Amino acid sequence: MNYLGNIRAQSSAEAIYRRRSSPQKPQKSKKIIVAGGAGFLGSHLCETLLQAGHQVVCLDNFSTGLRRNIDHLERFDTFKVIAHDIVQPFDLKVDEIYNLACPASPPHYQLDPIHTTKTCVLGSLNLLELASRTGARILQASTSEVYGDPNVHPQIESYWGNVNPFGPRSCYDEGKRCAETLFFDFHKKLQVEVKVVRIFNTYGPRMRPDDGRVVSNFIVQALTGQDITIYGDGSQTRSFCFVDDLVDGFLRMMASPPSLTGPVNLGNPGEFTIGELAEQVIGMTGSQSRIIHHPLPTDDPRQRRPDISLATQELGWRPHVDLAQGLVQTIDYFERLLARTTRELAEAM
Ligand code: NAD
Ligand code: UDP
Repeated sequence: MNYLGNIRAQSSAEAIYRRRSSPQKPQKSKKIIVAGGAGFLGSHLCETLLQAGHQVVCLDNFSTGLRRNIDHLERFDTFKVIAHDIVQPFDLKVDEIYNLACPASPPHYQLDPIHTTKTCVLGSLNLLELASRTGARILQASTSEVYGDPNVHPQIESYWGNVNPFGPRSCYDEGKRCAETLFFDFHKKLQVEVKVVRIFNTYGPRMRPDDGRVVSNFIVQALTGQDITIYGDGSQTRSFCFVDDLVDGFLRMMASPPSLTGPVNLGNPGEFTIGELAEQVIGMTGSQSRIIHHPLPTDDPRQRRPDISLATQELGWRPHVDLAQGLVQTIDYFERLLARTTRELAEAM
């Protein structure tokens, strides 16, 4: 078996292990809002919650989310999709709310930075008010971006960060920081049961081909023979978490005792330079693509790696899928997606 075949066999064994070890039937079916449920992470979360027997309401404004991410969930009569922008108030009696609504890719959140800040701040406020009115427990998808370009490495939850308040990334970074402030003040003042997780770079199937984040860019470029675009010299680092591991972390955090509010880091501590990631994607796809360099974007963090001691201690959580295994599944996804798109284009001509 070649390198890729070997990794594929390992990752399907891993998938079977994860399916067997994850809880299948909930004690009690809950009604749950997933805001941002048509996005990359949200669609996986909706799917897992539905498979566990819960009723799921996906709220999404479809700014970066896609219908095709959730089309296959329509077979569940416990699934409802509502087109809604969380910047506007929303009312529905539910048990739990996951707030994932926000564009996460830098080119996407920088397209309309004012709306990104509104989504983070007014969107969180609206969902917190809903939680306060209905007694729902609420989880916020915060981000490693709250650490900015970190001076402390690896990043631990007690580090306050190094964030530019008026740069191109600020709408997202400061928006998410303000959202955390709101979450903890609603907890302290109004006794809302809050859960805040800080997500480090997560990748996997259902990222958009035009998402703009590094993993999807490199894979799509490698599979289509385009140049692989490294921004800067490629020595900056990131730690990449596979989506299944992250969803497991979400569920554990939501189910944790009320005293655990977070913030809790969720990410894979394996740290790679962007140059190493490019080489790995080229090697795994067998691509002939060349590497080219573009200027490093303003305020691009130099290094990033989560300290996950708190998640391990409090949630018994740690990631199981390493980068090579996760890339196999992600490359498979994009191969199939690109083949389908090419076929559809050919049929339409
Ligand atoms: P994504 O862009 O694929 O998904 C975001 C979803 O939210 C999309 O479906 C989008 O249409 C929806 N949305 C955006 N603004 C909205 C609004 N105002 N009202 C309603 N819906 C809205 O991104 P993702 O990678 O799935 O990220 C999901 C969440 O996790 C985001 O909040 C992001 O900040 C957070 N996060 C993700 C990562 C990661 O690496 N994937 C890292 C840190 C934090
Ligand atoms: N990056 C890159 N080429 C790309 C896309 C991104 O070199 O085509 C770099 C980017 O400059 C950053 C890292 O990869 O240093 C991660 O970028 P991404 O947008 O995925 O996430 P974030 O910067 O928010 O961590």
